[in-house]
Amino acid sequence: MANWNVETTCVQGGYRPGNGEPRQVPVVQSTTFKYDTSGDMAKLFDLEASGYFYTRLQNPTNDYVAAKIAALEGGTAGMLTSSGQAANFFAIFNIANAGDHVVSSSSIYGGTFNLFNVTMRKMGIEFTFVSPDCTEEELEAAFRPNTKAVFGESIANPALTVLDFEKFANAAHAHGVPLIVDNTFPTPVNCRPIEFGVDIVTHSTTKYMDGHGVAVGGAIVDSGKFDWMAHADKFPGLTTPDDSYHGITYAEKFGLGGAFITKCTAQLMRDFGSIQSPQNAFYLNLGLESLHVRMAQHCKNGLALAEFLTNDPRVASVSFPGLPGDRYYEVAQKYMPNGTCGVVSFCLKGGRAAAEEFMKHLQVFAIETHVADARSCCLHPASSTHRQLTEAELEACGVPASLVRMSCGIEGTEDLIADVSNALSFI
Ligand SMILES: *Cc1c(COP(=O)(O)O)cnc(C)c1O
Repeated sequence: MANWNVETTCVQGGYRPGNGEPRQVPVVQSTTFKYDTSGDMAKLFDLEASGYFYTRLQNPTNDYVAAKIAALEGGTAGMLTSSGQAANFFAIFNIANAGDHVVSSSSIYGGTFNLFNVTMRKMGIEFTFVSPDCTEEELEAAFRPNTKAVFGESIANPALTVLDFEKFANAAHAHGVPLIVDNTFPTPVNCRPIEFGVDIVTHSTTKYMDGHGVAVGGAIVDSGKFDWMAHADKFPGLTTPDDSYHGITYAEKFGLGGAFITKCTAQLMRDFGSIQSPQNAFYLNLGLESLHVRMAQHCKNGLALAEFLTNDPRVASVSFPGLPGDRYYEVAQKYMPNGTCGVVSFCLKGGRAAAEEFMKHLQVFAIETHVADARSCCLHPASSTHRQLTEAELEACGVPASLVRMSCGIEGTEDLIADVSNALSFI
């Protein structure tokens, strides 16, 4: 399976049916699993044998789909979570405790920013936010002796900044900590962060991976490359015995490839239970089977819309990392040369009023807070997600009142352009 290309892995990765077994990934709709002896079960509870005992921690359907995502990312192990929020929370909380510190890009999804800056701060974990465009010196200055991880988004939602993986990975590794990257927007079809030094990859599978707007979900993939034992003092949770499993040490027992995901499953999933339902994992897998086909059309539509908007006199600016001349075009070409995503944002010269008027007249693009699925949609952040902010605050966070975010679906390119062109004619 390791040598398959991305298309084949999207369709067939993760699950290999045996003789006479279901061709499609079976939905194991069972909370619990049966064993012949309590000795068999004891081995599971000691992590001496691998197997299933309770769907709060693990379920075969989820594991098939997680294995597909891990293969797509080129990682050694993966797990599904109930949402993208849960994935990012688990990825950090698996290695950072109260009293620890994390360096994060400031250009991240609003929900993740809130998770870090409010909720995880309440848990005693400190965050320092740095611009994705910071210099190496500025990045260096953000580290503290208790820093345990660095976090960023490959293409940030909604700012569409592209992370310089090598700059962030070099800084993280120089300080003996892993780089965690949320790869939701490009997906592994367009970008494989592990190839550029990223240690742990997370996803909101709710977006392109599902692709049809049917199931909220998340995923975590470990590259298996970060050497926890080489920095044993920083990561005692992985490098010292876990009393809740008869004193096993994850990094010793499960090695580079398995320690992170095994600990995350055995401790965090056990205690928080934020598992994806097997039925949702099944839906996610249907989405993954066509991810490579859909991403190509999302990117084609995104680029066509960005080009169209650039040439319109009513448009003040366009952001799309796949568009030549975009601030992030070069770095996107380096890390995702085959395409970026289908999300385009732009500002209208007519300000807030023009943005609101424009959106009233769209017929193919629907107004939604969602992004990144088969149906085109759009959002005016200043009157929705960023509603509480003043005009000055909106400018400061890079989301001016004239900004509209368009998520190009997989409909016909001409229809999307005609819809936008018609709506623009009203302003
Ligand atoms: C949507 C999103 C999330 C949160 O995912 P949910 O599945 O909604 O919990 C995290 N990161 C990025 C980049 C997202 O777009």
